[in-house]
Amino acid sequence: MELRDRVSGLMGQAYTELAELVSMRSVADPRQFPPEECLRAAEWVRDKFAGVGFVDLELAETADGSRAVVGARPAADPDAPTVLLYAHYDVQPPLDEQAWRTPPFALTRVDERWYGRGAADCKGNILMHLTALRALGDAVPVNLKLVVEGSEEQGTGGLEDYVPRHAELLRADAILVSDTGNAAVGVPAATVSLRGLANIVVTVEALGSAVHSGMYGGPAPDALAALISMLATLRDAAGNTTIAGLDNTQTWTGVDYPAEMFRSDATVLNGVSLIGDGSVPDLLWARPAVTVLGIDCPPVVGSAAAIQPRAAARLNLRVPPGTDSGAAQDALVAQLEAAAPWGVRVTVEREGTGAPFLAEQGGPAYAAIAAALEEAYGRPLATLGQGGSIPLCNVFADTYPGSEIILTGVEEPRAMIHAPNESVDPTEIANMALAEALFLRTYTLAG
Ligand SMILES: [Zn+2]
Repeated sequence: MELRDRVSGLMGQAYTELAELVSMRSVADPRQFPPEECLRAAEWVRDKFAGVGFVDLELAETADGSRAVVGARPAADPDAPTVLLYAHYDVQPPLDEQAWRTPPFALTRVDERWYGRGAADCKGNILMHLTALRALGDAVPVNLKLVVEGSEEQGTGGLEDYVPRHAELLRADAILVSDTGNAAVGVPAATVSLRGLANIVVTVEALGSAVHSGMYGGPAPDALAALISMLATLRDAAGNTTIAGLDNTQTWTGVDYPAEMFRSDATVLNGVSLIGDGSVPDLLWARPAVTVLGIDCPPVVGSAAAIQPRAAARLNLRVPPGTDSGAAQDALVAQLEAAAPWGVRVTVEREGTGAPFLAEQGGPAYAAIAAALEEAYGRPLATLGQGGSIPLCNVFADTYPGSEIILTGVEEPRAMIHAPNESVDPTEIANMALAEALFLRTYTLAG
C-alpha cells in the first residue's frame, strides 16, 4: 500500500489517541494542575513510542522537576544517519474556560477541525510522529532518537539544561523540532529564523524626594520627563526602532505575512496604522524591535501634584539573526545614557539575553525535508520567521554544531495555539506525517 493511503488509514487511530492525550491536563505547573497529569502524559508517550519500536525509553528527570521522555530506535545499518524527533507533552493552561466553545480537555470535532488544549501545540505533533512511524512500519532506514519534554510551555528550561549534560544520548545528524507549523493549512513551511532578545531596566534619578509641582515645577528636573525623552529616541516618527549601531533596514526574503492578516492577528484597531518602513515580515522577522514592558511611576489613581524624583522602565529588545544580542544590549544602553538630559543619574540593570537563530538550509536533511513536503502537499516549501525565540534551538545549535535543525509541525495560524479554542486541522496531521515518513525514508547524509 502506498504511504499516503497508509497514513489515511491511520487517522482514526490518530483521533482516538489524540483524544486520550488531550484528556490529560498536562500543564506543568503544580500550582494549577496535579503533577500526576503530567506523569500520566509522559508514561503515555513512553508506551506509545515503545509500540513503534523505540527501546531504552526512560522518563528523565530534568533540573526543573519535569520529566522528558527519551529513547532510541536503532537502524539495521549502524552507519545510517540519525534523526532526533522532538516534541513536548505539556500544554498551556486553558486560560478563560468560559471563552472555550468546547471543553478544553475533551477533543471535540467541529466542522473539519479537532478542538482541545494541546490539539496542535504540541500533542498534535506527537501524533504526527506516531502516525509517520506507523505508516513506515519496519521500513525505517535511519537511526531514530526521541525527546519529548514536559515543561516547554513553562519556560523553566528543564530540557535546555539537560541537553548539554547528556549530549551523546541525543546527538543526531538532523533534529526535527516539531513545534511550529505551516504558513497556512495546505501551505508547507519551515521556520528558519527566530529573533533573539535582550532586556534591561533603566532607572533615572534627579531629585532627593518628590516635590510640589506648583512650588518647584518649571526649573526642577523631572525624572519621569527625562525618562520619557530618553525612551522617545528609540523610535522615529514612522515607528521604526532606532538604536544607533543596529541595522533597521534588513528585509525578509521568505514567505509573506500579509498586512491584513497581521492586523487581524494583532487585533489592531480600525484607523490605527501598522508602524515602520517595510513589510510585516521585514519588521517582524528581519529587524530589531524595542518594546517598553513597564514603567515605574505613580499610577493615575492616587497620583499627587508632585514632580517625580525617580522613574524606571523595563525594556525588551528583539534582535534578528545576524545581530549579536549582547552587542545589541550594549547599543541600547549606550543610546539611553547618551540621551539622558540635564545630567540626571542613569543606572541600567541588564537582564538576560537570548541569541537569535537562523537555520542552516544548505544541508542534505533540509533538502530531503523540502522534497518530502513538496511531495506531500504538491507545492514547494516556503520559509517563515518567528518574532519570538525558542531557546532550545540555540542549545541544540551550540551542543551539536554540525547538526541540521528543522522546525516544522502542525501548528498553522488557525490552530490558535496558547489561546482559547485551540484546534488542529487533521489534514495537517496527515500531510505532515506523510512528509515526515517520506523524509525518514529518503534522508541520507550524501543528500
Ligand atoms: Zn509548543
